[in-house]
Parts: sequence; structure tokens; C-alpha cells
Amino acid sequence: MQIRNPRTGKYDFDLVEFSAEQVKKIASNLRQHQAAWWQSGLELRIEQLQLFAAEIVKAKPELVKAVAEDTGRWSESEIEVDALVQTINRWCKDAPKLLDVVPARAASIPFLEIQQQYYPFQLVGVVSPWNFPLLLSFVDAIPALLAGCAILIKPSEVTSRFVKVLADVLAKVPQLQNVLAVVTGGGETGQAVTSNVDILCFTGSVATGRRVGELCAKLFIPAFLELGGKDAAIVCADADLDIASSAICWGSMVNAGQSCMSIERVYVDRRVAKEFKQLLVEKVSKLRHNHPTMTEGQVGPVISDKQVAVIEEQFFDAKQKNARFLCGGELVNLGGGVYCQPTVIDNITPEMLIATEETFAPVLVIEEFTSEQEAVTLANNSKYGLSGAVFSQNIAKAHAIAHQLNVGGVSINDAALTGFVHEAEKQSFGLSGLGGSRMGAESIRRFIRKKALLTNTGVRSPWWF
Ligand code: NAD
Repeated sequence: MQIRNPRTGKYDFDLVEFSAEQVKKIASNLRQHQAAWWQSGLELRIEQLQLFAAEIVKAKPELVKAVAEDTGRWSESEIEVDALVQTINRWCKDAPKLLDVVPARAASIPFLEIQQQYYPFQLVGVVSPWNFPLLLSFVDAIPALLAGCAILIKPSEVTSRFVKVLADVLAKVPQLQNVLAVVTGGGETGQAVTSNVDILCFTGSVATGRRVGELCAKLFIPAFLELGGKDAAIVCADADLDIASSAICWGSMVNAGQSCMSIERVYVDRRVAKEFKQLLVEKVSKLRHNHPTMTEGQVGPVISDKQVAVIEEQFFDAKQKNARFLCGGELVNLGGGVYCQPTVIDNITPEMLIATEETFAPVLVIEEFTSEQEAVTLANNSKYGLSGAVFSQNIAKAHAIAHQLNVGGVSINDAALTGFVHEAEKQSFGLSGLGGSRMGAESIRRFIRKKALLTNTGVRSPWWF
């Protein structure tokens, strides 16, 4: 498979597509090593993951370069590598208390004793998207490895250049290499991964997530699905408008809007709408593309050519239906790469695709409200329910609004915080996902099964015949 370079538009990368047979063989090999990995104990697993983190730090320049070649942007690639190291360090610190074997305890029936044990799933599959290729390949894999599982990862076919550099890093941690494999390819390889694991962590679109979820149901394995969103921000009349416009500008435009928790909709109180829009448009208009070099500007190219078509369709539809573009509104070709202008739109109606469908681009739509209740209704009028934001200087009021939003995480007086605060538990509402929280301490327990040993300490049970 030939893969397009997001900066040049040239198909300059030959992707190796692993066949179903190859995936099956790799999965079987990982399974053979998993028992030793688990039995080696948590201390050794932590040691190996710390070694992995140290090797990532050493290889940071090469890894950043490879991720940047995949994605066409530089600063977010640096963030991905740093965040991966932080993720490893955080889990190495937290795992011992979370996976601790608690001492036996008396049951409520006095002569019975309870001993809880846990058993990791043998093989965890990870299928990841192209918007944060490195980080989203590992965000579930790290806690699963510490829990004692073996891992089979398939990154997006759009962004798999980094896999070679990653393989060089992994080669320096042989024990980890036995239980962690990365295969490349498209949907068929993803299907083969799903078919050969005991539990699947999928991050991607709702459409693929549904297919993957259906296959997992047939295979009778748990699926954790992290899918799309159309996150809304609510700006109350008493919000600090400078803070709100800066936070929303960042939360919407960072990574060129290619984040699941990007702010794509803003509901602003009519009384402050004019001033807010002015501030927002001023800030958004100042953003520049990462062109001609990757380190210039703030907004990178559209990474996937399939997404170019989605943005084009939504812009066309919004223009046809008389949306008002306050800034941006075009896709531009720079050096062969396609870049979406940072865009703010008002005069939108619910019939417009851009008002309801995920855009996954640096594009914001704004609507005004007259009461906070109306704002909540507008924000909740979505099939998605990933996250959101509320701006008000009255924290109690902001919390009351947040409480009514049908989403799994809400940033108060900030935006898209769930993207890098990973210690708070959150689940997805609506079509944004299914399954236990990927974030927070509890998430490691998704990878273990609990077993109860119930011991009679020496009394004839009174219920026997
Ligand atoms: P996608 O659904 O097209 O692909 C995701 C992955 O699934 C890729 O690796 C792909 O090869 C694989 N795949 C495709 N068909 C498959 C099949 N039948 N079986 C198994 N695997 C298959 O998504 P994308 O375009 O790469 O990513 C963008 C989407 O991801 C957006 O909707 C975004 O919101 C979402 N996303 C969600 C989160 C989250 O945490 N909720 C985070 C990042 C991205």
C-alpha cells in the first residue's frame, strides 16, 4: 500500500501489510511469552518499562522526526513523545498500589474468608487512528503491559512511518519485545488483530468502531471503543471573555483540530456574543500554517486525504445553506500538502453538516443563546458525548451546567483538558464510545479478571442438607 505524505502530497511510503496468517502467527508467539512476563512479577515489568522509557528518551530526535513525517507537524510530535514517557512513568508509579494483592479478609458470614486474586487477559489488541499515531498506540498498551498482558498493536495505515524507529527502540528492551508486537496494514490487518486477541482497545471513527464492536461481540471478547466527538463549549455572560476566547482558540485549533476532544461548537450568551466573537476571530486569524517549515506557525496540514473530502463537503454544504464565515473557510494547497484555514462560522442551522457532524479540522461554529438552559439543550443536541467546556467566573454555576451536559469530561474555564490530564476517570457518552474509562487509576483494571477464593475456615455450613 502506498501512503501519501501530508506535507508534499506525494505517495512516498510503502506500507507493509501484514496478512491474517502473519498476524495469527505473531499473536500465537506473543501468547507463548505472556505467562513468563506475568509470572516475572510487577517489579520486573516496571523495570522493563522504565528501560523502554529511557530508550525512548535517547531516541527522541529520531522518533519525533518519524512522527512528524507521518503527520506533517512538529510541536505536537514532540508532545507525543514526551507524553508517552510521562505515561510510562505515571503508570510505573501507580501500578503497584492498583495491582496490589489485598490480604484475605473475613466475609460477612463469620466462618468464611475471601481472597481476591487477579488474572490478566493474555493478549490485548490495540487498533489506533492517525491523529496522534504514537501516543494513541500506547495509551492503553502501557497499563495493560504492567497488568501482565501481552500486546499486539496496529497503528493507522495513514501514519505508520514511526513503526520502524519504534522497532529499533524496542530491540533494546528484549524482554518487552517478547510481549509487545506492532503490525502494520489497513482495515483487514485490523480485523485480523481483532480476531486473534482476548480484548480489544480501539480508537477511531464511529463507523469503524461499530464494525469492530460487532465483531468483538461475535467473538465474545470485550471491546473498549474510543470514538469521535463534536465537543461544545458554553460561554456564559459572566465569563472572562479573554480567557474563554484564548482557551477555545487553542482547544479547537491545536493539532489542526484533528483531536477527538477538539472544541467544534461554541454556544455564547447573546449579551456578550459580539465582543466574544471579535476576540475569538482576532485570535484565530493570527494563526499561521506550519509552512514552509514545520516549526513555523501553529496549524499543520490535514493528515489524511479522506479527511480532506469530509472538510470540503462540510464547507460546501455550509456555504450553500448561507452560513457566515467570520474567518477562514478554505482548504489551501501549500507545497503539495492540503491545509485547512483556521475557520470561525456563525449563522448556522441544524440542517448543516458542519453543525452536527465531526469536522476534525480547525473549524468552529458559533451559536448564540438567551438562557443557560437553552445552551445546555443546544450542547446536548448531539449524537456524540465525548467532552465539553464551560466558561463562567461563577464556578458553582459552571459546575451546575457541566453536571447537565451529556459528556464524559468537562473542562471548566479551559478547553480540551482531557487531552493531557489522564488521571481523571471519564467514559464516553452517546456514540463517542463504549466501555470503561481509559483514563484514571481504575483503567488498568480493564486488563485483569478478578477471581475470588472463598475459604471455609472449618465450620460445617449450616445450609448443607
Ligand atoms: P478509522 O476508524 O478510519 O480507523 C481507525 C483504525 O481502525 C485504523 O487503524 C484502521 O486501519 C482500523 N480499521 C479500519 N477498519 C477496520 C476493521 N474493519 N477492523 C479493525 N480495524 C479497522 O479512524 P481514523 O480516521 O484513523 O481516526 C479518526 C477518528 O478517530 C475520529 O473520528 C476521531 O474522533 C477518533 N478518535 C477518537 C479518540 C478518542 O479517544 N475518543 C481519540 C482519537 C481519535
